[in-house]
Amino acid sequence: MSRLSLRVAAIAESATLAVDAKAKALQAAGKPVIGFGAGEPDFPTPDHAVAAAEAAARDPKAHKYTPAAGLPELRSAIAAATSANGLDVGAEQVIVTNGGKQAIFNTIAALINPGDEVILQAPFWVTYPEVVTLFGGVPVVVMSDESTGYRVSVAELEAARTPRTKMLIFVSPSNPTGAVYSPAEVKAIGEWAAEHGIWVMTDEIYQNLVYGTAEFASLPALVPAAAERTIIVSGVAKTYAMTGWRVGWMVGPADIIKGATNLQSHMTSNVANVSQYAALAAMTGPQDVVADMLAAFDRRRHLIVDLLNNTNGVTCPTPEGAFYAYPSVKGLIGKALRGRTIDSSLTVADIALDEALVAVVPGEAFGTPGYLRISYATSDENIIEGITRLQRLFAEAE
Ligand code: PMP
Repeated sequence: MSRLSLRVAAIAESATLAVDAKAKALQAAGKPVIGFGAGEPDFPTPDHAVAAAEAAARDPKAHKYTPAAGLPELRSAIAAATSANGLDVGAEQVIVTNGGKQAIFNTIAALINPGDEVILQAPFWVTYPEVVTLFGGVPVVVMSDESTGYRVSVAELEAARTPRTKMLIFVSPSNPTGAVYSPAEVKAIGEWAAEHGIWVMTDEIYQNLVYGTAEFASLPALVPAAAERTIIVSGVAKTYAMTGWRVGWMVGPADIIKGATNLQSHMTSNVANVSQYAALAAMTGPQDVVADMLAAFDRRRHLIVDLLNNTNGVTCPTPEGAFYAYPSVKGLIGKALRGRTIDSSLTVADIALDEALVAVVPGEAFGTPGYLRISYATSDENIIEGITRLQRLFAEAE
């Protein structure tokens, strides 16, 4: 019996971090590992955000506690950014959090009672079900695959609905698949949630990373009737290459934000002021850096998908958002490779690391065996070298 509390003992180790740890250990041993595991942009934070942080670090007013819900000027900037998506909100409807992760934690803590069912889609970002379970909620998984571009329909959500359904977790663009729901699909899902009085937590952290003709749509903006029961979570991490600064937010009805602020006031108090000033500068300063990063991701997206679709046993739909490709490797299952039998995508990932020194995350981590998540937030050279290694390796599978 574990000495840990029942709640914490039930938390699984992140498979993403496990792959990363093994890849880093190999790298430390001098091996030329190519890593496709990272969920973060490979660019530095924009200069003007770093300069704002430097100035804040020298300003004594940033050396003290500030309100738990965040710096008033940052809350206002977040309210303005949310309003620009079509949902009119005031600063009192915003709480600044330690990354999008704390916004998710706050949201589930503020709304989920033991036994409440939370519908989420697989492939899912692994933090969602862990946090739901931590608070006694019951994750109800709706499966999806490449045949629908990793999108679920209202009919599939409806089939998962029971009298205990409390919330839907919605994310578009998606981690791990890069799927983007069309505005019409978002509207239909929002109307379904509103009709049945279901809360929605919509994760909009990849909203600015959308390619081609795909279009980001904010659910509560399209469906005002759902807004009264919708929480938006987001942050600066992905848009501004600021994963390490830890600034995110939660936007929603004022009573829920007040409850979440009470929780956060006991848990972490204010987010580091230096980081908050950096986030404010990133959001209100020049936005051309975002366009530059987007253009690089878009180029790499086509590069990686073309290479993957020319790899034995691999088929990869073109992602429309975020910076992940989510290829199926079902064509390799059952085959033999370098003396091993490929029985799962976990084994595919293992062999890729052992034999080709290429780190990828197996689909098992996201609730869907048979796939790999491959981040293309890395250089063109790494993409070409890494996927070429996989092409050579998988060509031997028979
Ligand atoms: N939501 C999604 C879908 C993510 O992929 C991530 C980061 N991996 C987050 C939220 C949290 O981001 P952060 O805590 O770094 O702001």
